[in-house]
Amino acid sequence: MSVEKVVVIGSGPAGLTACIYAARADLQPLCFEGFNAGGLIPGGQLMFTTDVENYPGFPDGITGPLMMKAFRDQAERFSTRYIREDVRSVNFTKRPFTIRSDNEEVQAHAVIIATGARANWLNLENEQRLAKTGGGVSACAVCDGAMPAFRNQELVVIGGGDSAVEEGTFLTKFASKVYLIHRRDELRASKAMQERFFKFVEEGKMEPVWDSVVVDVLGDKSITGVRLKNVKTNEERDLPCKGMFLGIGHTPNTELFKDFLDTDDTGYIKLPHPPSTHTNVAGVFAAGDVADHVYRQAITASGSGCMAALDAERWLAAQGLE
Ligand code: NAP
Repeated sequence: MSVEKVVVIGSGPAGLTACIYAARADLQPLCFEGFNAGGLIPGGQLMFTTDVENYPGFPDGITGPLMMKAFRDQAERFSTRYIREDVRSVNFTKRPFTIRSDNEEVQAHAVIIATGARANWLNLENEQRLAKTGGGVSACAVCDGAMPAFRNQELVVIGGGDSAVEEGTFLTKFASKVYLIHRRDELRASKAMQERFFKFVEEGKMEPVWDSVVVDVLGDKSITGVRLKNVKTNEERDLPCKGMFLGIGHTPNTELFKDFLDTDDTGYIKLPHPPSTHTNVAGVFAAGDVADHVYRQAITASGSGCMAALDAERWLAAQGLE
C-alpha cells in the first residue's frame, strides 16, 4: 500500500484550508471529507448556515454551502483528492498511521484532524425545522445575529454558560431586548461574564428567565415565540420573540481519536505547544473547532487549517518524508 504524505480528516473551513496549503506545498493531500458523521455533512457546520456576512472577501455575503463549495473547488484545483466517507477508525500508535473508512484503508505519514464540533440543540421538531430554513433559530449569534430580521426585536438565548451570556450580550447590539432562558436559577458562566450579564439586566437590555426550559418553538415560516415550562412549577407559558439562539454548548467530534490524543475535560483536542497545531502525537495535527472552544469562527478555523498544513509540511521535511 502506498503511503500518503498527509491525510486531512474533515472538510469544513479548517480541513479545506489545510488541503489548499498542503496541495500547494506539493504534498498531494487526501481528504476524508466525511459523509454524515455526528449529524454533519461534507462542508461542516457552514452547510447549515444561511448567510455568512463576516468572512472577509464577500462584501455582499455568501451562503454557507456556496462558500464551502468554493473552498472545495479551490482545494481540488490544486489536486486535493477526496474520499466522501466518514472515517471509522484510526491507528496513531504505529507509523505510518492508518485511517479507515467503510471502503478504504489508507496509510499516512502525517494527519491533520479537522473534524470540527457540533452545536448542541434542544432537538425539538420545530427548532430543527426553523433552523434549517432560516426561520430565526440559530446556534451562532455572532454568525446570524446581525441579520435584519432580528433588529429591534425581542430575542431569546438558551443556556446559562459563557456562550449563552456572550451570545446574549452580543445580541443586545441589535435586539430591543434579549431574554436569557436558563434551566436553573444560577448561571454557570464565569464571574466576569456574570457581571457583564447583570449590568445588561440593570440597563434593561437583558432579562433572565430562570428555572425554565423551552418545550416548543412557535411559528410557521419563522419563529413567533417559544413555549416555556417552569421546571419547578411545571407551569407553561408562551413568550413572544423573533429569534432563538442556542448557547447550550458544543460537542467536539473527537470520539475517533480519544484512545490516542490528549483532550481536555470537555473533549477538545489539546495542543500542547501553542500556537503550533501539533498534538501530543508527533505527525498528528489538529485545526479548527475540534481544538478550539473559544473562537469557533470560519475565519479562525481557516487560519488554523493553514497553520496545520504549514506545521505538517515542516514536520515532514524534518523527518525527510517530503
Ligand atoms: P457550558 O459551559 O457547558 O454551558 C452550557 C449551558 O447550557 C449550561 O448553563 C447548561 O445548563 C445549559 N444546557 C446544557 N444543555 C442544556 C439543555 N439540554 N437544555 C437547557 N440548557 C442546557 O458551555 P459553553 O457556555 O458553550 O462553554 C463551553 C466552554 O467554552 C466553557 O469552558 C466556557 O468557559 C468556554 N467559553 C468561553 C468564552 C469566553 O471566555 N469568551 C465564551 C464561550 C465559551 P447547566 O448550567 O444547568 O448545566
